[in-house]
Amino acid sequence: MSQLDPPKNLTRNVLVGMFAGVFIASLCFYFQDFISQSVFLGIEKYLFNLGGQIFKNLLLLIVVPLVFFSLVSGISSLSNMVKLGSIASKTVLLYLLTTAFAVMIAIFFGWIFNISGYEGEVASFNAPAGEASLYDTVLRVFPSNIFGAFVENNMLGIVFISILFGIALNLTDNLTDNLSKNFERLNIVFMKIVLIIMSFAPIGVFCLMGSYVMDNGLNIFGDLIQYVLILIFVLLFHLFFTYSLVLKFFANLNPIIFFKKMRNVALFAFTTSSSAATIPVTLKTVTDELGVKKDVSSFVVPVGATINMDGTAIMQGLATMFIASTVGVDLSMIEYIQIVLLAMVASIGAAAVPSAGTITLALILSSLGLPLDAIGLILAVDRILDMIRTSVNVSGDAAVACVVANSEELLDKNLFNK
Ligand code: ASP
Repeated sequence: MSQLDPPKNLTRNVLVGMFAGVFIASLCFYFQDFISQSVFLGIEKYLFNLGGQIFKNLLLLIVVPLVFFSLVSGISSLSNMVKLGSIASKTVLLYLLTTAFAVMIAIFFGWIFNISGYEGEVASFNAPAGEASLYDTVLRVFPSNIFGAFVENNMLGIVFISILFGIALNLTDNLTDNLSKNFERLNIVFMKIVLIIMSFAPIGVFCLMGSYVMDNGLNIFGDLIQYVLILIFVLLFHLFFTYSLVLKFFANLNPIIFFKKMRNVALFAFTTSSSAATIPVTLKTVTDELGVKKDVSSFVVPVGATINMDGTAIMQGLATMFIASTVGVDLSMIEYIQIVLLAMVASIGAAAVPSAGTITLALILSSLGLPLDAIGLILAVDRILDMIRTSVNVSGDAAVACVVANSEELLDKNLFNK
């Protein structure tokens, strides 16, 4: 067994953690009359909320160095730099295409199923200020201060800096006494840190699910059930239908093999709700099991984790329709087209960490003049939805990696089919 394999029995343990969290929290919730208020609040605050927040913090802690080192070490060790341009352009094009398609089907199904709004009162929500326009999103790709980008968790800026740094490192490796090797070493260390954190994932998930159920009981989707069901349906449709089509049509690959091999990655993403924290597992599966050569995977996977979020874009498209319907606004054709474009920008702008997509939803709502308060409504049901859409996000990265590798003749089909 390699030292960089995901923790053993992760799937089983995470599921046990999840159900145990739901079970214990629902016992507390439904029998709260039998336990004292202070015990109830103590369990909620010091067991579930604290544990869940620590797990989330640990994942957030690792995201910036992970994206930086995986991209720098990937690009600096590329054997064929000339190919980088063609790999990068194909990757970005496919990412944009699949995301645009994702929002379109979200709108299509939202319309077919006649998504209807929330009838109750919408509590106020403080949307984060600024950075909510196309102009700001583009500008964030080019930060004026390297350290500023890192401190502010500006992921788009960090991706840009990493690519620039990786290219320079690659081109000067003989002058720097193989400095790139040190970045590869550090990358291994950070990947290991994620895997160590993930060995605590069953406890983390136990706490996260518990804190969710302590708030709402088992009626976690409450009045938003129609929105939730449509969203889950579209996410699964995109996952299984669109990616099968992409794999078959662009690369003549067998989607069933792809999905079987992606199980672990999807589960890791589901557990962490973070595409970035999933990078080590995605990289390993894409390279060692799906047969994508490192030259492609080391660029496509970390970039995809940060900018390619089809599941997030689907949520944003449907959430916008849901919110428009809640406040009684009829969207016009032009506004639907705007939603497609805005959701592409907002999903690219979302950091690959839990709930990020719900925050950049503000970009779409404010551009369409819809109330930002309604984000509070969506956030309340976001926990499980975030888990599912993150699994879709990482599957999209892997599917595109296979297609790009195939077109560059850097896909080992025997390994893929094995
Ligand atoms: N959690 C998602 C991811 O990391 C982003 C989001 O939609 O909130 O891919």
